Amino acid sequence: MSLFNSKTQTRPVNNGNNFLAELALATIHDGVIITNRAGVIQSINPAAVIMLDCGGAENALGLDYGLLLKLESIEGRELSENENPLIQAMRTNQQLENYAACLIAGPSAKRIPIAISVVVANNNENNKIITFRNITKELAEESEQAEFISTASHEMRTPVASIEGYLSLALNPQTATIDERARNYITAAHNASQHLGRLFRDLLDVTKLDDGHLRPHFEPVEMVGTVKRISDNYITAARNAKLNFQFGSNNPAAINGISKLNQVVYSYVDINFLQEIMNNLIENAIKYTPAGGSIYINVLGDGDRALINVTDTGIGISSDDIHHIFQKFYRADNSDTRTIGGTGLGLYLVKQRVEAMGGRVWAESAFGEGSTFYVSLPRISGEEYEKRMIAINNAKMVAPQAPANNINQGGQQ
Ligand code: ADP
Repeated sequence: MSLFNSKTQTRPVNNGNNFLAELALATIHDGVIITNRAGVIQSINPAAVIMLDCGGAENALGLDYGLLLKLESIEGRELSENENPLIQAMRTNQQLENYAACLIAGPSAKRIPIAISVVVANNNENNKIITFRNITKELAEESEQAEFISTASHEMRTPVASIEGYLSLALNPQTATIDERARNYITAAHNASQHLGRLFRDLLDVTKLDDGHLRPHFEPVEMVGTVKRISDNYITAARNAKLNFQFGSNNPAAINGISKLNQVVYSYVDINFLQEIMNNLIENAIKYTPAGGSIYINVLGDGDRALINVTDTGIGISSDDIHHIFQKFYRADNSDTRTIGGTGLGLYLVKQRVEAMGGRVWAESAFGEGSTFYVSLPRISGEEYEKRMIAINNAKMVAPQAPANNINQGGQQ
């Protein structure tokens, strides 16, 4: 039995082999709770008692963990049981690793940001070890860092745009006369300034998404027409890159075994997020596919999901790199990618935006043969779509507003 089980003791005494382990638990700043299979608290360390503000170990022992460990999302949103990873991990005996949430602690319901983990013991009792640590300081540091990057990017964007503008003028035969050598130098400088401009724009988006300032504004959307319209903007760029570009081709390699062309697929998404996601995936497909290759884009309804795929026959991604490409600043490093410009932020931004809309993004690829990026978003029924559209139109009639986004809802109106 753990020494912390004692109703009177909160400090371990040296009377057994577990002394050092007990001492460690008694002195660390992380909260540790051990429950039985059913989630009843068997043991609680002093840091957990303080963080949970439960007045003493004796008040916690024998209680269901859920009575003390009440969580809301890190942004302060209420979590339903299905959305609460702690409840899910405890119910299904799954591990949970460093989930960032807000703890609602003690009688005063004080909010404490924590990172919480669950480990299930491989013993008969299936004990669960819940650990949680206060991340207030980490969040403050991250937020300061983000603030700095955001201010710096914002300040640098304007001069970079101006440099890019003047270099464009120098390259334009109608506004400047330059010799061939100068043209080569200025072209290189122009490309670099465009790269820098893109980097600052992506960095600004990263900081806004990371600190929750860029929240999705959901609206009902017909996905097939909308994604087609976004894709159509790239027909010229693909042609210039000598690529075959098809929307709705139902390319067999594109969607695993689902063959439902000409569907109408409804979703409830942020249209600007969707546009940015598609821009990134299509620009990458063009960038990483050598001339003569093909790009296929499809949207399909797959049960309760709307599934988009962007498939290319380009350079592909190695099995080592594929696990990292959605990380911040990650770029696959090989002879092909070294000559292709990029910031390594695009796919990170795609992931952030997709997840903010309750979706999932992943890639499948064969190195040297091509890649498929999938985006799966929650789907809504036709009736749900109609209902939401009527609600929006009614709200507009009550309070007239400026016209909505230039991408409409897929020609359904
Ligand atoms: P970047 O600005 O470098 O393109 P991204 O975050 O968009 O950054 O992509 C990260 C990395 O993933 C890229 O550097 C590249 O190595 C790889 N990648 C992304 N899309 C593709 C693709 N369609 N084909 C091959 N590799 C890709």
